[in-house]
Amino acid sequence: MPEPDRSRAGTERNAGMANLGIPRNTIEILQKYNFNFQKKYGQNFLIDTKVLDRIVAAADITGEDCVLEIGPGIGTMTQYLAENAREVIAVEIDKNLIPILEDTLCGYDNVTVINEDVLKLDIRGLAEERNGGNPIKVVANLPYYITTPIIMGLFESHVPLKSITVMVQKEVADRMQVGPGTKDYGALSLAVQYYAKPEVVANVPPNCFIPRPNVGSAVIRLTRYEVPPVSVEDETKLFSLIRASFNQRRKTLANGLCNAPDLGLSREQVAGALEKMGLPPAIRGEALTLGQFAELSNLLY
Ligand code: SAM
Repeated sequence: MPEPDRSRAGTERNAGMANLGIPRNTIEILQKYNFNFQKKYGQNFLIDTKVLDRIVAAADITGEDCVLEIGPGIGTMTQYLAENAREVIAVEIDKNLIPILEDTLCGYDNVTVINEDVLKLDIRGLAEERNGGNPIKVVANLPYYITTPIIMGLFESHVPLKSITVMVQKEVADRMQVGPGTKDYGALSLAVQYYAKPEVVANVPPNCFIPRPNVGSAVIRLTRYEVPPVSVEDETKLFSLIRASFNQRRKTLANGLCNAPDLGLSREQVAGALEKMGLPPAIRGEALTLGQFAELSNLLY
């Protein structure tokens, strides 16, 4: 498929639409609709064509792909996705954005906008209906207040996925990709790394958005594993164990696990498992790899 021509950025695009990645085009739309940003929805719209190109390239969108975009805003990234994908489904919570999206996306016949809270949507059912249950790609400049529930929801509800390529708060991107022994390592790192291979593909400063967020941002690509890198008897138990280990970060792993009532573990059981694994009794959860958590979970349950 030929590369879409972006050299005319700022004038007319393939579908005859103004490129909203250009700040003055975004400002024009915001003024035309007298749009008021809603802080509660984490609305920071992208206004940088290089970053938009980078996201679409990192997501490796082809003419075969069905893409889910979470929070299209005024449709800036949606336009880029629509030019590359077979089909784009864009889920936007803010009803005030729907008439704007009808306007900015009117030149594309491969985009469906759904006015809904993404956390309440049956995305697995949607992928079944729109893509015959084949893996979809998720691409988004996420609302930062719900980054973790969105990403974990996609993984845990077993939505068929090839990859998730998203803009998130820089600190959260770091947490998703680090390993043991760093301050950012925790339950989120382990959960993400159980399901996917994380890779930060760009750091994005606040001046690439309108309004500017007061934190740095990063684009991270999570490539879904077909088979998780570790094997466990009981996935739910593994995640309960991980959560309990990081709930009390200052405590030893053994204390954290024995103090978690839902795990129902005795001090002897935990000590025995740690000994079998050749780990010191006073080890902290933050020192264990995903493989070691899986081994511990298999020994305990
Ligand atoms: N994609 C646009 C862009 O890059 O310019 C906007 C990104 S903005 C960071 C996040 C978007 O997510 C906003 O449009 C916001 O209204 C929407 N949003 C917030 N919470 C949502 C939810 N629970 N479900 C769906 N969309 C949501």
